[in-house]
Amino acid sequence: MSGREKEKGVNVQVLLRCRPFSEDELRSNAPQVVTCNDYQREVAVSQNIAGKHIDRVFTFDKVFGPSAKQRDLYDQAVVPIVNEVLEGFNCTIFAYGQTGTGKTYTMEGECRRAKSGLNGELPQEAGVIPRAVKQIFDTLEGQNAEYSVKVTFLELYNEEITDLLAPEEISKVALEEKQKKPLPLMEDGKGGVLVRGLEEEIVTSASEIFTLLERGSSKRRTAETLLNKQSSRSHSLFSITIHIKEPSPEGEELIKCGKLNLVDLAGSENISRSGAREGRAREAGEINKSLLTLGRVINALVEHLGHIPYRDSKLTRLLRDSLGGRTKTCIIATVSPAVHCLEETLSTLDYAHRAKHIKNKPEVNQKMMKSTLIKDLYGEIDRLKAEVYAAREKNGVYIPKERYYQEESERKAMADQIEQMGITIETHQKQLEELQEKYDVQVRQCSDLSTKLTHTEKNLLETSRLLAYTEEELKKLQTENALTQQACALQSDLEKALKDNTSLFEKISREDKLHSDNRSVVNSFHSELCQQIGCLRSIVANSISQQDEHLQCVGKLCNSFRENHDKAVKEMKKKLTNTRTVYMSHIEALQNVVRLHKSNSVAGLDEISTLASSNAQSIEDYLASEGVQAASVFDDLQNALSAHQGEMAIFARELRQRFNSSSEQTKQISDYTDGFLSKLMDQSKTIQNHVTGVDNIQMKSIADFQKAYEEQSKSDAEKFLVDVSNLFSNHILRQKELVNTRLDGLREAAVENRSFMDGQVSSLKNIATEAKRKWQEFCVQAESDAKGGADYSAAKHCRMEILLQQSVTNAESAFQHCKKTRDSVNEMCTKHVSSLSSLVRDATDHIEQHDADIDSARTAAEQDVATNNQEILQHIDGMSAQERESVSGILGTVESHTKTLETFREGHSGQAAVMEKKSQETFQQHFMDYDPTGTTPMRTEPDVPSKGTIESLRAMPMEALVEEFRENNSYDSFEVKEPKTNLVPRSPLAEIN
Ligand code: ADP
Ligand code: MG
Repeated sequence: MSGREKEKGVNVQVLLRCRPFSEDELRSNAPQVVTCNDYQREVAVSQNIAGKHIDRVFTFDKVFGPSAKQRDLYDQAVVPIVNEVLEGFNCTIFAYGQTGTGKTYTMEGECRRAKSGLNGELPQEAGVIPRAVKQIFDTLEGQNAEYSVKVTFLELYNEEITDLLAPEEISKVALEEKQKKPLPLMEDGKGGVLVRGLEEEIVTSASEIFTLLERGSSKRRTAETLLNKQSSRSHSLFSITIHIKEPSPEGEELIKCGKLNLVDLAGSENISRSGAREGRAREAGEINKSLLTLGRVINALVEHLGHIPYRDSKLTRLLRDSLGGRTKTCIIATVSPAVHCLEETLSTLDYAHRAKHIKNKPEVNQKMMKSTLIKDLYGEIDRLKAEVYAAREKNGVYIPKERYYQEESERKAMADQIEQMGITIETHQKQLEELQEKYDVQVRQCSDLSTKLTHTEKNLLETSRLLAYTEEELKKLQTENALTQQACALQSDLEKALKDNTSLFEKISREDKLHSDNRSVVNSFHSELCQQIGCLRSIVANSISQQDEHLQCVGKLCNSFRENHDKAVKEMKKKLTNTRTVYMSHIEALQNVVRLHKSNSVAGLDEISTLASSNAQSIEDYLASEGVQAASVFDDLQNALSAHQGEMAIFARELRQRFNSSSEQTKQISDYTDGFLSKLMDQSKTIQNHVTGVDNIQMKSIADFQKAYEEQSKSDAEKFLVDVSNLFSNHILRQKELVNTRLDGLREAAVENRSFMDGQVSSLKNIATEAKRKWQEFCVQAESDAKGGADYSAAKHCRMEILLQQSVTNAESAFQHCKKTRDSVNEMCTKHVSSLSSLVRDATDHIEQHDADIDSARTAAEQDVATNNQEILQHIDGMSAQERESVSGILGTVESHTKTLETFREGHSGQAAVMEKKSQETFQQHFMDYDPTGTTPMRTEPDVPSKGTIESLRAMPMEALVEEFRENNSYDSFEVKEPKTNLVPRSPLAEIN
């Protein structure tokens, strides 16, 4: 821990845990009003106040929502605390909240049932206590350290302490007695408290602690049933004290001690309830004094009140060190998420939030030397031994119980009184210190005042001496005043004269200055004039030389121009003659080309005419050969046609013969079929007769049988009638019936047979007649068809012959036409050849003419070129003569300009010299300066005393002096002041001037 933390203290750590909905709450569908944000460590409670939805948000050191498991809470919040206990700190964890919000669940958990199956692993539901115990043993065993662990477990109910670990081996009566007997709380003489007679169990393993815890909790549980929910009003305190052996560097063994208090407080609802009834008659056990006092202690600590009422309850006495002391403290506030707990939830949150501001100053317990500890323990053993001895021998002090309790309460009252007195003494001490301080301040002020007084007395003496001296002086001063008056008048006259004098001197000096200024202006003007004339001269000279240069340049340029021009003219003439010769050669080339063209054209025309005549010849030959061939083709065609005609006639004849034979055959078949059908009909008639005969015979035989049978059965019946009488009559009757039905059936079958046969025969007859009729129809049709076919073939034959005849005549006419065409083509060819040769002749004539034209044009062009050339040369010659003339004119002008320039320069320099001379004369000789005579008096500054100085010689009036003195020496100031300068006495007139 840092030193700063030690000085300032650390805040109590406050965690909030919200349990999940219980089954009852879930069943009643209770709305949720608490929402936890574990990550942001915030809890929001939503309220509905006057129809408005308001969220209140609280922030804590850690927040565990309904889903947080026992393990999460332990790992995040308790592990570091247990580690500090193992480091030698004392730490306390409170569980605070409404009944049923999970305080006991958080502290103890629900591991009892699972205890037996505990093999180093804790059940999930195990609370802080078993987990802390396990951590402690795990760590200590891991460190291989020598240690001892002691635990106590007590309950505080109605301001009475009960030991939850009291041994049970004593008889039941004794046990109950012990249970009932409250244990006294005593000062241990070192500023702490101890519970007298509280069982301190030494444990050596985690499982042992579980047994103890189970024992204590079960006792508490029994009490709960017995005392009607006592647990909601009782606090339980489970303490673990650890001693660990540590070797010191000096070899001496040190004992490190740490203590962990785990407090399961009474239900917080008891505070508000009991608080509300405080004013009324207090029922025993209803007011939870301890819880109330805890609240007050927290308030006092938070508001930094002087008196903290630790002593008002047993709980606060027991846990004094955990609240504002040297212990590290953590409060776990538990709430329910349901709406019906809203009020209590808000009050729990407020309470817990307030507790956050408590500051503790944790300190490590001093390590004890083993020897000291042993000595202490020996002392303790001796004391206990003496007690045991006294008890056994009954030679101790015996007092009645009532008296003991009375004395005990008196002692308690006295202890309270002593504490109160201690507080009073403390406040008195404080008051005394304040008074002492005030006294010191007064004494200091007093001494200051006396020194001031002596100082003032000294000043007074001085002043009265000064006063006497001053009065003397005053008398002298009155005479001085008259003199001063006179001096003042004189001084003013003198001052006026001096002022006039000064103004005159000033005028003279102004004039002097004007003169010298004028002189310098004239001088500067003269020098500037000279300079400017010089400048002008040089500029003119420059200009003239530049103009000269220009003129020379112009002359040179004119000459060079003339030369260049001559050269150019010569060049041009040469080029012109060259052009002419080139032109001539081109004309020559052109004529050559024309000649070539002419010969080519003539050759082409000749070729065309020969070609045309050869073409006409070949066409004639071709037509002749073709005519012979066409004649042979036409002959062949005619032969083929006549052959076709013959064949066709033969074919028609044959066709007609065949038709005739086929109709003959059809007729034969028809006759045969006719015969067949009539035979068939005859046959069916015989069948019919036969059937009738058979039917009659059958019918007759059946009737005979029936008759015979009836006669036979009749005789049989008579015969048997005697013997068997009625016995057989039935049988006979039945047989008779049977035979009758059988005969009827036979008859019916015969009739049916007959009718069927009749139907068959008639249908056969019908079919035969139908077939015969059809066949006859077909025969007639076939005959007519054959006749039609023969007629048709004959008609077709005629038609074909006509067509063949036509073809023959067509071929003839085509042959004639072919012959005609050949003749006309021959004629056309000869015509064409003659017109082509006349055209060729014309073209040759044209070419000749063209040639002559070109020749004449050429001579004309040559002549024109020569004359033009001549003219151009003449023109150029004229132009160059003109140019030469103008160049010589320019040169003449240049010469005359040069001359003019020379005269201008001479005139200008003469004028400039005259101007210079004139200015010299004017400024040096005519302009005159003032000459001083030396008679003007010198200017002097006489020292005239000021009016103020003279006035100051005058003595101050008495009232003013007194006034000033009062101002400088006010009555309320004890300070000695330096007298003002004008009050310092001076000797009359001597020191001025
Ligand atoms: P308290 O000691 O504050 O009166 P209990 O610890 O007896 O409350 O808890 C009341 C009931 O709520 C118990 O049945 C307990 O199992 C259950 N309970 C409390 N907190 C939780 C929790 N965080 N998770 C599950 N059940 C819980
Ligand atoms: Mg409980």
